[in-house]
Amino acid sequence: MPCIACNSNDSELMFENISDLEYETYKPVNYFKCKNCNLIFQNPVPDTKILSSFYPSEYRNFLPEGKSIFSFLKDIQFLMLASKISKHLEKNSKILEIGYGNGQLLSTIQKKGYKNLYGTDFTDENSEVLLKKRIKVATSNIEERFPFNESFDVIIMNNVIEHFSNPKKVLKICKEHLSENGKIILITPNSTAFELKIFKKHWAGFHAPRHTFIFNRQNIKELATNLGFKDVSFEPVSDPGQWSISIQNILQNKKLTKVKLKNGMAWYLMPLSLLFAPVSTVQNFTDRSTGMMCVLYS
Ligand SMILES: [Zn+2]
Repeated sequence: MPCIACNSNDSELMFENISDLEYETYKPVNYFKCKNCNLIFQNPVPDTKILSSFYPSEYRNFLPEGKSIFSFLKDIQFLMLASKISKHLEKNSKILEIGYGNGQLLSTIQKKGYKNLYGTDFTDENSEVLLKKRIKVATSNIEERFPFNESFDVIIMNNVIEHFSNPKKVLKICKEHLSENGKIILITPNSTAFELKIFKKHWAGFHAPRHTFIFNRQNIKELATNLGFKDVSFEPVSDPGQWSISIQNILQNKKLTKVKLKNGMAWYLMPLSLLFAPVSTVQNFTDRSTGMMCVLYS
């Protein structure tokens, strides 16, 4: 299979048999790396039907905005992300979020004064939350069908593009639904992150088997150029969860330290994330940040 970013046929096995240590949904999977652009990809790539079986109802991104003592941390994280995104929005921008999860990002963007909001996800589990806020919602698997017959100024995917069986096709479909000078904003793990170097096959960025393609700045740029986008800009995004879940993966892989997880999280995950918050912030000053925000200009 040629690389979806650079079309090279030259790839090598990177890690074999990475298990789902968070939800135990599927068999261990293999990750390959394109030798030309370093795009990391699952091989074989699961089809959309198998992919949708990787998300149990306890999947944490579907959890309603909680009232737990740590929900204020999530609130801060979403506020920071919404601020970062809003630099690329106009007050009357027509905005679509693909894969809205529990709806928290759209709700936060709405609180900042944006009114023309749409959301889509492959499940309607949390659609009520958005409908109540007068955000337009459609349920669809974007790989099969674009759910709206209209164009958008901005399409946002927050930790979503790395979940598809064909992200190139998704970006192409989205581009066709952008208004003039519209843009796509992607937030996605960064494969040049320090954590991959440190944790290797336990790196949370694999989120195996749910992450199918893991990008870096170079191959996102290559992919976008091939699809006819005029330009791409990047900003680092910090996510201390990449550290704590990587550590959790190591501990869950050993009989002695394995504990029962709730929503894919061990009891120690939140304090550990707090501990690593400063680390992941400092990373943003290098090109090895945990995640990245990519803006694709059409
Ligand atoms: Zn490549």
